Parts: sequence; C-alpha cells; structure tokens
Amino acid sequence: MAAPGPVHEALDALPLVDHHCHGAVTADLSAGRFASLLTEGTAWPGASPFDTPAGVAVRRHCAPLLDLPRHAPPAEYAARRAELGWREVNRRFLTAAGAEVFCVDTGFAPHPLTTPAELAAAAGARARAREVVRLERVAEAVVARGVEAGEYAAVFRAAAEEAVRRPGVVAVKSVAAYRTGFALDPGRPTDAEVTRAARHWPAHGGRLADPVLVRHLLWTAVDLGLPLQLHTGFGDADLRLHRADPALLTDWLHLTAGTIPVLLLHCWPYHRQAAYLSAVFEHVYLDVGLALHHTGPARCRAVLEEALEVTPFRKLLYSSDAYGVAEFHHLGALCFRRGLAGLLQDRVDADELSLADALRIAHWTGRDNARRVYGPPLTEPARDPGGRPTRKV
Ligand SMILES: [Zn+2]
Repeated sequence: MAAPGPVHEALDALPLVDHHCHGAVTADLSAGRFASLLTEGTAWPGASPFDTPAGVAVRRHCAPLLDLPRHAPPAEYAARRAELGWREVNRRFLTAAGAEVFCVDTGFAPHPLTTPAELAAAAGARARAREVVRLERVAEAVVARGVEAGEYAAVFRAAAEEAVRRPGVVAVKSVAAYRTGFALDPGRPTDAEVTRAARHWPAHGGRLADPVLVRHLLWTAVDLGLPLQLHTGFGDADLRLHRADPALLTDWLHLTAGTIPVLLLHCWPYHRQAAYLSAVFEHVYLDVGLALHHTGPARCRAVLEEALEVTPFRKLLYSSDAYGVAEFHHLGALCFRRGLAGLLQDRVDADELSLADALRIAHWTGRDNARRVYGPPLTEPARDPGGRPTRKV
C-alpha cells in the first residue's frame, strides 16, 4: 500500500520504542495452539479465534511476511508457519516491527518464551531489549521461599531492590488490576497491617491477592523510584474488567503526585478515563497497547483518536503488549503507525495542525515520550540484560 502523505512516511520510518511487551514462543506451535494465542479468551468450540478482528488482521497483514497471499486461509497460514519454524517466524515479524527498543515484561510465562536478549537478537542488529520487573512475581517468590509475617515487608522490599538492580531493568509492573482491582484504600498500609495480612497468606506461597498486600506492593513501587507500569482495562478472563478502570486509582494518584511516573497500560475500553487522568496528573501516562492489534487496522485509529481527545501529546506512548506470537509485535506496530498517521495527516490536511507539529507528535508518541519517561537506561548500550545470547534465535 502506498504511504499516503508525509506523516505516514515519517511514522513508517520511525524506529519505535515498544515500551511494554512480552517474549515470543520458542517452540513450533500446532494450528490449535497458535490459534489459541490469537485471543485473550479461552477455547470456544465451533468458533475459530481466526474469526475475530485480530485473526483477520493476521491473515491480511501477516500472511505476506510468510510468503503467502493476503487473506490466506487459516489452515494455510498455520501450515506455512510450522513449515518455516519458530525461529524464522519470530525473526520475520520482530524485524518487521521496526522497534529500536523492546521493554519486556518477564513476569508472565506460561509458555516457553524468548528472553529479552533473544527477542532483541531476533529483531535485528539495531534492536535492544530492556526488562520490566513484575512485582507480584517478586513478592510471591519471597513467600514461596518462606518468610516470617513480621519480616515480609522488609524482605520483599530487599528482593524488589535487588531485582531492579539487574542490568537492563527500566521499570516495574503491577497486575493489581487482576488481583484486587483498583477500588482500594489508597493510603500506605502500616507495618502492623502488612504483618497481619502476611500472616494470612498461605504458607506454601500462592498468588498475592490480599488488598493490604497489594496496596503495600504499589507503595513499595513508589519507594523503588522507577516508572511503574500498571495493567488497566483489557485482559484475559482472569480479570474483572469493571475493577480495572484506571479512574478508580484517582485517590491513589493524588497521594502519589510528584513521585514516580505511572504508566497506564492497554486501558481499553477505559482509554478515555486514562486520557483524563493523564491530562490532570503530571505523573500519569498511557498507551493503548493490546487494543491496537485486537481492534486491528480497521478500528485502531478510532481507539487512538479517542485516547487523544484530551491526552497531552507528551503523555501517550506506544506499546504492542504482544505475547507469545510475534505476529502481534508486528501487528501492534503496524496498527499504531497507520492509525496515528491517518489521524494526524487528516488534521494537517484540514489545517488543524501544522505538518511540523504532526511530525513532532508522531515522534513523541512512537519513541521520544518513552525515552523521556525511562531516561538514559532505555538507550544506553551498556545495559542490555544479560548481553547477546550465544545462540542465534
Ligand atoms: Zn502485558
């Protein structure tokens, strides 16, 4: 497709910062297993995950990268994917994504996934990886190792400090949205409250889901001083969507004003609430990752337009939130570039925006806002986590 205008050309050429994504699967997938990764839902007998906005977008926009015709049938798509093998499939899509940095959440891995370094290696010589530490995983590991309730707060904090000192870590993340939702007492819990709550956490470990301990985790994130990524909105069936509305965080955001950057991830269908929060709180940022490829090129522009109704232009970031299938690292980038370019170019054509301003907004959103939030650790070459893998992926 010809690039219709200078904003499209600029965004097509821009190396993106994908500030929140996950690894790609390091195994060949059966047709069924591949299809199951196209959806946030569970298997639905009689209906294919290919028959969704994301599924048709994969057949339309990813098939040509596997040397197939556009709109290739699902069976042909899955067969060609298996024929090429996971290494080549990952290489093609991750390269096509055109990202200079992938910030990888390493805290969710029900499948065998690329490490951050392997993901970057598959994306080409210019791509780098950074790591995002999921704090619930740190807390759960502390409890699994065994800790006295009275020592939990200090041991968790020490473990979190150690985790974020690893080379290449640029942020922490919380999935509080999944565990309790955001309708929490916003205040920092007292030591006595934390000890009492830790006493009731099952001795064998398990999931952190106590409201006091979730609050304590969020406040520990503030103490760590790194940017905090928060899952909000869209996710899988483990979520209670209405409790993942970021507007429920308003009181906590008042209390944490002036501390760390808070990055609201995904947000859909609450991207307008997130946009409002970013407009009124200096430390709040957002993206519409995950919603980009799940709404597909046909509708991602509308989501971006709604997010940008009131979001200050220095507050919107790009992420794919791709997990498992590298198609989504590519499709997220493609949706973002086309959706944002389309809406900005239309505003230039209508003389609502100068071309220079449109290009500034494109660069800010695709790359420079992330560089600003995460700072030098995002781009300094010395901080690749674990260096390059010895095995080519
Ligand atoms: Zn994610």
